[in-house]
Amino acid sequence: MSFSDLGLDAGLLSAVSAAGYTDPTPVQREAIPAALSGVDLLVSSHTGSGKTAAFMLPALQRLLQPSATRGRGPRVLVLTPTRELALQVNKAALDYGRGLRQVRTAALVGGSSYALQLRALERPLDVVVATPGRLIDHIERGRIDLSRVEVLILDEADRMLDMGFVDDVETIVSRTPATRQTMLFSATLEGVVGDLARRLTRDARRIEVATSGEQQAKVEQIVLYADDLAHKSKLLDALLRDPSMTQCVVFAATKMAAEQISLQLEESGFSAAPLHGDMHQGQRNRTLRGLREGRTRVLVATDVAARGIDVAGISHVINFDSPRQAEDYVHRIGRTGRAGRTGTAVTLMGHHERHRARDIERYTGQPLRIETIAGLEPRRRPAKPAWVPGKPGHGARPGYSAKHGADHGAGRGDGYGHGPARGGAGPRGPGRPGASAQGRPPAHARAR
Ligand code: AMP
Repeated sequence: MSFSDLGLDAGLLSAVSAAGYTDPTPVQREAIPAALSGVDLLVSSHTGSGKTAAFMLPALQRLLQPSATRGRGPRVLVLTPTRELALQVNKAALDYGRGLRQVRTAALVGGSSYALQLRALERPLDVVVATPGRLIDHIERGRIDLSRVEVLILDEADRMLDMGFVDDVETIVSRTPATRQTMLFSATLEGVVGDLARRLTRDARRIEVATSGEQQAKVEQIVLYADDLAHKSKLLDALLRDPSMTQCVVFAATKMAAEQISLQLEESGFSAAPLHGDMHQGQRNRTLRGLREGRTRVLVATDVAARGIDVAGISHVINFDSPRQAEDYVHRIGRTGRAGRTGTAVTLMGHHERHRARDIERYTGQPLRIETIAGLEPRRRPAKPAWVPGKPGHGARPGYSAKHGADHGAGRGDGYGHGPARGGAGPRGPGRPGASAQGRPPAHARAR
């Protein structure tokens, strides 16, 4: 099936081909014709599946019909959990809308100037992409009229709920007409997301295409055990000197850690930059531009700040601090393996964090490969496998209970915290995780 079989307008087809897309992705094949028919949609999809085009192309097609109502308010409203994602979706609206008559869009996100947003809201708009908090501000000040909304899209709805936006989302939706078409995209459609979906949609068609497994299969997933912070820094240094690494996102647990690691990398001669929630929107935009244009090779980011980053050159994700939740792990590794490419995700783990590796494997259903870098092997060999097939509980040693690992981060005083520790990141030959891989069976194979 090609894009021209989906029922899209010629102007949109030319934008799709200008973007270099030859075939629709599975989520696009299913969601675009359904969305064009006007029904509500509940779509489970992951970042990297092509979901943005899956909702934006049919939403833009709607703009080709004259509006039934007069006014300045937007006809298409997209809500996203983060500013970065909102800016990317807004850019997608402009890119895909290029072949149509002028599409007027605005991104209403926190951390940006109100003045510019108010100016945008004084003019007629077709598409608004917003984070819930800032949109609520504009609604409360009476600056935006949502009575013309024909298409409402909730992007990464699970994340919006995780971030505590449920009341804001419901308030916003209550300002839109009941006749609207609603499309909800989320990694999961179960639990609280399912409840929200039932409240906000009518006779929705459910589409579940891109499984997390397919998405993650494009990403090679590796664990390197580290003895302490200095060892971690050396491993990071070696990984960044790997010639196969084009660009990389390094994940840190806290904003301060992101700053410190970035500084340390710059001192070691890498073109690195931090990205976290304490930076002004202008700084964040400049940083992302540097990454997109290839001037920045290593981005050191926190979880929330990195959400939605879509840069095809990111060949590696390195979890300097392992993610707190398995779900965050999936979002992190989704920054690589974009646009049909493959990627590598390396998680640096303290010995006390073994249980986290198991949590991740259980969540993704995919094995993490334990490797070592020649010359930088951990002192404590990760010899004992986390489990032996058919022997439930084997390897779950009492010393590795959740309480030991749960509070990994600054100030632990066990050598893993982000103190002012410097150095240890001295030049070293190119190191690749190599021959000492210990293959392990997938978590789902484990008898429990
Ligand atoms: P998304 O899941 O919307 O974040 O999209 C992930 C990436 O896939 C983005 O870089 C898109 O530009 C790209 N993309 C979207 N649709 C296609 C397609 N049909 N063919 C190739 N790349 C695509």
